[in-house]
Amino acid sequence: MAKKQFKAESKRLLDMMINSIYTHREIFLRELISNASDAVDKLAYRALTDDKVAVKRKDFQINLIPDKAAGTLTVTDNGIGMTKEELEKNLGTIARSGSLQFKQEMEKAEKTPKGAKNVDIIGQFGVGFYSAFMVADTVTVRSKAYGSDEAWEWQSDGADGYTLEPCEKESVGTEIILHIKPDTEEEKYSEYLETYRLQELVKKYSDYVHTPIRMEVSHTHMKERPADAGEDYRPEYETHTEVETLNSMVPLWQRQKSRVKQEEYDQFYKEKFADWEEPLATIHVSAEGQMEYKTLLFIPAHAPFDYYSKDYEKGLQLYSSGVLIMDKCPEVVPDHFSFVKGVVDSQDLPLNISRETLQHTRALHIIESNVEKKVKAELLKLQKEDREKYLKFWKGFARQLKYGTVNQYGAKKEVLQDLLLFRSSGGEEFTTLKEYVERMPEGQESIFYLCAESVELARALPQAERVLDKGYEILYFTDEVDEFVAQTLMQYEGKSFKSAADPDALPETEEEKTQAEQKTEANRPVLDFVKEALGDRVSDVRLSRVLKSGAVCMTTDGPLSLEMEKYFRKMGDDMGGMKAQRVLELNADSPVYSALCQAVAQDPEKAKKYAELLYDQALIIAGLGVEDTARYTELVCSLMV
Ligand code: ADP
Repeated sequence: MAKKQFKAESKRLLDMMINSIYTHREIFLRELISNASDAVDKLAYRALTDDKVAVKRKDFQINLIPDKAAGTLTVTDNGIGMTKEELEKNLGTIARSGSLQFKQEMEKAEKTPKGAKNVDIIGQFGVGFYSAFMVADTVTVRSKAYGSDEAWEWQSDGADGYTLEPCEKESVGTEIILHIKPDTEEEKYSEYLETYRLQELVKKYSDYVHTPIRMEVSHTHMKERPADAGEDYRPEYETHTEVETLNSMVPLWQRQKSRVKQEEYDQFYKEKFADWEEPLATIHVSAEGQMEYKTLLFIPAHAPFDYYSKDYEKGLQLYSSGVLIMDKCPEVVPDHFSFVKGVVDSQDLPLNISRETLQHTRALHIIESNVEKKVKAELLKLQKEDREKYLKFWKGFARQLKYGTVNQYGAKKEVLQDLLLFRSSGGEEFTTLKEYVERMPEGQESIFYLCAESVELARALPQAERVLDKGYEILYFTDEVDEFVAQTLMQYEGKSFKSAADPDALPETEEEKTQAEQKTEANRPVLDFVKEALGDRVSDVRLSRVLKSGAVCMTTDGPLSLEMEKYFRKMGDDMGGMKAQRVLELNADSPVYSALCQAVAQDPEKAKKYAELLYDQALIIAGLGVEDTARYTELVCSLMV
């Protein structure tokens, strides 16, 4: 029989198709199922306009028939089928899409028949079919077109043209028979003959194709143990086969929000994203406008175990007409909300020819900025209406939001600042910046904070007293990144951030300033004495302007604070040995200071020990711990006796 030849360029194109367009071989099944589904949709569309079409929607089906003995996988449908001419045109010409043409004609049709909205044609590039040659060395297509009484068989080995001849086929529709390639060392093609693998692929790529995809699946059960079974009874097994529908068909996100129960969302989330816990929030949006798409987003209740590691990959599942295009599309989720899980489904996606990726990113940007908006609004709502849930969210993702605020020089601070929570001197609860500012009494000009390792340590910091006595609240920065957050934000609602330990935190009159200077001068000899006793351990010893009843505290000079030093050290960065410049502050009004002065005058040896002890005490209060514990105990003991 004479073979018809592919046109020369078609041959090369076909070779390209088979070898370089697709990254995943397994995608061939998605493509064949998409074609079958299109064929069914076309006939269903016909039925809407033509009373003579007797097929009912419920009778439509796609069948997968793996045959290990014959080494074939057959995909059948009872859709519209192809005539001889159509087989030739559609399968003999690469990049010719009968489906695209159908879609265009449908759109041009003067009036769309009722129900036609459900016709959602997938094909458009006219190449998907050839992906079959990635796994098959010969492909046979047997088809009978609707309204025709002859059937035709098309066959090709992919490289060397195709044959076309009449065949016997009773029912309308198409049968695609793939002669699966023999296994090689690198590739196990025979897996496409295994039912479990086919089930997996349908679930992964074609779960939401709205025609049932059916396959015979066998199940093995243990037989019931007979009542009279003796001790040496061995369990017996029996196998039975059953034709099962593999796909779930109606995607949750295509349904009307009001018709979906929360339990259904929860169930979907848990199954799809392998989480044991229900999501904290579900966002279901049907977007129209610049782009039409549906999206279902979830905010997990806890951070996945690898969330803060390099292994974590953010992204949403991308679907086009119910067919999976990408499992994790990172571009549609902003970095600072990388915890969001979910799906996006749109017919407006600029698909790449392989339908594995997208061509350009404008559409993705539109989706991304919408995801950002929706997630932020949902989180704010949670924060307001269900603080307990929000706290749970905060527990898992505080770090993410704080780093998100600091990253890229604060590019996203406007988006994130209202989502942040802090502990404060105000009580046991977390507070937002907004709530803090709302509570600010008249006369308070700044947002005060104190850095400490824990809330308990922060509460014990003697530096706080002066600010607290004024009736001002202090935010406790107990996370290393908090201070950077404040530095990045710079201000919130026009109020700047100030450390309560900063002598200039509270406004001072000129008179107060002169008084303080005079006092320092009067105490100069004692301060110099202590500085000398401590040597390089401190860069300065001062009279404190921040202490009220406490005797000592540790502060710093220069840009590097103690908390930052700790932070960098923890990150494994020793800053070239750079340390925060420690400053010991003494409270001239405390009884301890009087004792120190007395010792300086009468017993310099003892005074030196006092100086060291006060230094150690300041370290302990700052949460830094004593540097030389042996020396510390020795000091305490020697001063007691
Ligand atoms: P696409 O699906 O992107 O159009 P394909 O290369 O997969 O491209 O298919 C080419 C054309 O062949 C389709 O547009 C369709 O007209 C026709 N076709 C493929 N498979 C079938 C099928 N199972 N039933 C009817 N027509 C089909």
